This record gives sequence, structure tokens and C-alpha cells, in this order.
Amino acid sequence: MASGSALVRRYRRNLFAVTGLVALLSAGGVAVGMQIAGAAAESALEQSVQEVLLVQEQVLNGLMEKFRLLPNLVGRNPKIFNVLEDPSEKNIAAAQLAIRHDAAMSGALDIVLLRLDGSLLVRGTGVVTEPFEPTSRLLSAVRQGRLGRKAIQFPPNERAYAFASGLRDGGGSLAGAIAVLVDLANLEQIWSLSRLPILVVDQEGTILASNRAEWRTMPLEKVQNHTSGITEYVFEGEARAYVEMSRALPGLEWELRVLAEAAPIARARLGATAVALLAGLVLAVSFAYLMRRRLNLVQKSRTDKANSLRLERLVRDRTKALTLTNKALEQEVEHHKLTGSTLRKTQDELIQTGKLAALGQMSTALSHEFNQPLAATKSYADNAILFLERNRQREAAENIRLISKMADRMAVISRHLRNFGRKPKTRLSSVSVEAVVDDAIEVLSARLREQDVEITVQHEVPGVLAIAGHVRLQQVVVNLISNALDASEPVPANSVQVITGDAGKKVFIKVRDFGPGIAPEHLGQVFDPFFTTKDPGRGLGLGLSISYNIVKDFGGQLSGQSHPDGGAVFTVELESARAQEGQPAG
Ligand code: ADP
Repeated sequence: MASGSALVRRYRRNLFAVTGLVALLSAGGVAVGMQIAGAAAESALEQSVQEVLLVQEQVLNGLMEKFRLLPNLVGRNPKIFNVLEDPSEKNIAAAQLAIRHDAAMSGALDIVLLRLDGSLLVRGTGVVTEPFEPTSRLLSAVRQGRLGRKAIQFPPNERAYAFASGLRDGGGSLAGAIAVLVDLANLEQIWSLSRLPILVVDQEGTILASNRAEWRTMPLEKVQNHTSGITEYVFEGEARAYVEMSRALPGLEWELRVLAEAAPIARARLGATAVALLAGLVLAVSFAYLMRRRLNLVQKSRTDKANSLRLERLVRDRTKALTLTNKALEQEVEHHKLTGSTLRKTQDELIQTGKLAALGQMSTALSHEFNQPLAATKSYADNAILFLERNRQREAAENIRLISKMADRMAVISRHLRNFGRKPKTRLSSVSVEAVVDDAIEVLSARLREQDVEITVQHEVPGVLAIAGHVRLQQVVVNLISNALDASEPVPANSVQVITGDAGKKVFIKVRDFGPGIAPEHLGQVFDPFFTTKDPGRGLGLGLSISYNIVKDFGGQLSGQSHPDGGAVFTVELESARAQEGQPAG
């Protein structure tokens, strides 16, 4: 299948070819059309010229034939003959009367009786006043026994045609002539009805009569040009091409010509050219349109096909992607399930690890606590031995008493250690909040001394009991006070407050320090496992997380925030054991 651009190229090529073909056809059409239209127009013109020629020939012949015969008829009148024999005034008057009568009856312009020298013997209507030239063609023919013919002009613009025939006397010799003058204006009047130019030319080439006044009495050569095979006549100062037909009229020795302007032929050719060109153009445009339409259809069907293929591909891809996504989702869910269970497991482990870590911390603190009394005990014992060796009983007894005191102290510490080492009870009980706080402080006493931080404990209500586990709650409080001490280090603040109280159904332990407080961006994270801002080795980020879970196990809540007056405050909220038992605190 051709590509889109190849298709358009092919379309253009075809379009050029078709346009070229149409142009060629148009050119051929123009030539043939011009030929046909020209020929048709010419033949139509020739036909109308021919018709006019025939009609006018009849008219002319009819008119002239009558006048051609008239001299003979007039000459047969005895009154004419008498004048030739005896040209008396009386005979002339009688002949004149007869001639005028004949002229009036025939419509002739004038009829005159001539002597052979051309002088007028009897005048007719009075149009002819001058004698005729004796050597003229008219009288020469008469003298030769033929019918004389001649065109005659009368100033200013009257033209007549004269027929003359000889008259013989009693002895049979030629004695005179009768001349009949025909007014050519009559003829022109008849021709004026014709739209086509009509003219008669005599043997000398003079235009005797024409329905175009301009041409009358002109030599033919003056109005007629023969350039490049076209007959042109000059009319109103302008040379125009004419289609011409002529006919010789032997009886009159004239030539009758009928013309028709050739302009319609040129117009017809022009019209044919225009029509052929227009047809060519219409053809070309129609072809171009049809081809364009075809191209559009082909392009559209290709686009449709391409679109549907694209759509199919898209649907296929989407389906594949969805299947993959589904699979990925399933895997993700599986993964999450796995991660969830791993997390839970890890969390449990971490809690355990955290507990161990706390235990470790506590062991360190306790071993520190033990070392000091042990060292003191050793030194008191050594001293007692020395005093006994020197018999100084009293000093020896004092040192032994101090040893006993050290043992008491270690016993106290050991009790705490036992509390920590014991597995936390899962069963909850009523726990004295005060005892828990005191034990916690006791655990941390060495550090408190070291750091020179004063702990102020305030029990708002005495004997507050909470539903909890003693050791675990103590672990929580130790953790909170440890954090408070950590926060007090960089500031430095030398006070940590522990406040306990009862709020009806709930009891609380608040641990407040005067350190930097909790940064707002860390507020949501401090209870997350492993969230720590402390230096590596100093903080595990487990203390609060473990504490949170322990308090939650008690059915309570652990929360922390920055105090408006500086520092941080962490609050343990627990169910009140007294409220459960229905007894007021105190
Ligand atoms: P660790 O003490 O090991 O960092 P914790 O879970 O006990 O882990 O504490 C988490 C974090 O909470 C600390 O690193 C600290 O940023 C913040 N934090 C805890 N207590 C306080 C406090 N009293 N003042 C300011 N920040 C505290």
C-alpha cells in the first residue's frame, strides 16, 4: 500500500497528466470549433447574401427590362415619326405631349427625342436640358444599330440610366434617337429595405447605385481593398471585411454585388473558442474534483483503517497493561501482606530488643551503683582488719557497721534489679503510681546526682492507683525521665518535674522538662520506632515506641507535646483502679 505522501504525489502526477490532456483536447477543440463555427457562420452569411442577390437581380431585371424596351415602343408613335419628317412647332408640341404621357405612364425620369448629333429635338419632363455628347457610348451604339446604354449624372446628385434606340425615317435611314432615363434613386429606394449593402457597378467600374449613399458614383476601386485575400470595403472611413457575391447582368452590362459584413464569422469563431475553452475548463475542473474526491475517499478510508488499527492496538495495550497492573497489584498486596507480617514480627522483636536494651542500660546503671558500695565495702573491710590487728575495737566496729550499711544499700539496688529482671505480668492490677515514680527515680538516682538535676515530684492527690503493671509502668516512667534528662543536658536546665494526679476515671503521670521542647516537624514521629534525634550510640529511637505500646497494653494513652512556657511534657494517662473499684482516692 502506498504511503500518504506517495498517494498525494500520484494524485498530483495524474492531475498534471489530466490537465495536460484536457489542455490538448481544448486546443484541438478550439481549432476544430473555430473551423466549424467559422464555416457555419460563413455559409449562413453566404446563404443570406445569395438570397438577397437573387431577389435583387429579379427586381433589377424586372425594372430595367421594362425601360430597356421602352425607347422602341415610344419610337413607334406616329407623332414622333412626324417630328422627324417635319419638325414644326405643332408636331413638336404633339410629340412632346405624347412623350410626357409615356414618361408619366412608365415612371421614367424623362424621355427625349434626339437628333443623331445629340441635340434635343423634343424634350419630355424637363429633367434633360442639355444636348447629349454625339460621341458618347449612348449615341455610338445607336448609330451602330444597337440599344444605347449610359449612366448620366445631373448636378448635384441625381443619377439616371439612359436607354436609347435609333429612329428611322421614311427612307429607312437613321434619323434620330429616343432616350429613356430611369431614375436610379427608385432602385436604391427598393434596396434601402435590405440590411445588406447592395451595389451595381458598370463596365467602367463605377458604382452606379447603392443602398449605401457614401458609395454612390464612386469608382469601385476607391471603396474596395483586396488585402490578404479578404475583400474589404471602406465604409464611413473604415475598412471592413465583407463576404461578397456578385452576378453579371449582361442585358445591362452591369454587375450586381451584395455584401455582408464578415464580423459575425469572427464572432462565431471567438464564441466557439470561448465555448471550447470553457468546456475544457469545466472538464479539467470536473476531473480535478473527481480525482480530489477519490483521493479524499482513499485517504479517509486509510485514515479510518489506521485509526481503527490504532484503537485496536490501544485497547490491546490497555488490556495488557491492566492485566499487568492487576498482577502487579496482586503481587503488591501479597508483598504488603508479607511486609505487614514481617513488620509485625520485626516490631515484636524490636519491642523485645528494646526491652533488652533498656535492661542493658539499667544493668550498666546498676553495676555503676554496685561498684561504688563494693569498693567502699572492700576499703571498710580492709580498714576493719587493720583496726582489729591493732586492737582498736571501736574503729573496727565502726567500719563493720559501714560495711553493713553498704550491704543494705546494695540490697535495695538488687531489689530493683529483680523487678526489672522479672518477666512483666500480663495480668494488670492496681498499681500505686507514687511507688512506681519513686522506684523509677531510685533507678535513676546515680545519673541524677551526676547530672546535677533536681527532680521535683508532686502528687496532686495522695494514693493514686492505676490499672497497670508495676515494673512495666516503672519502665515507662524511667524512659520518660531519661529523655527529660537527655533534653536538659544541652540547655542546660537543672530541673525535671514529675506530677501525678487523678482526673476522675483517669489518673495521670506528667514528666516535664525545661529543655528545647519537641520540634513541630517531629511531633508526629517521636513515637515511631527508631525515630531519634540523638547522636549514634546515644539513642536507639525505641524508648517512646516501647513505652507507647506498654501504656496502650494497659488501656491507657501516652502523649507528648511542647509546653507553652518551654520544654516538653509527656503524659501517661491510665484507667483509675480506684474508679473501677468505686472508691475515691486518698
Ligand atoms: P531515644 O531516646 O533513643 O532517641 P525515644 O523513643 O525515647 O528514643 O525518643 C525519641 C525521640 O523523641 C528523641 O530522640 C527525641 O528527639 C524526642 N524526645 C523524647 N523525649 C523528649 C523530650 N523530653 N524533649 C525533647 N525531645 C524528646
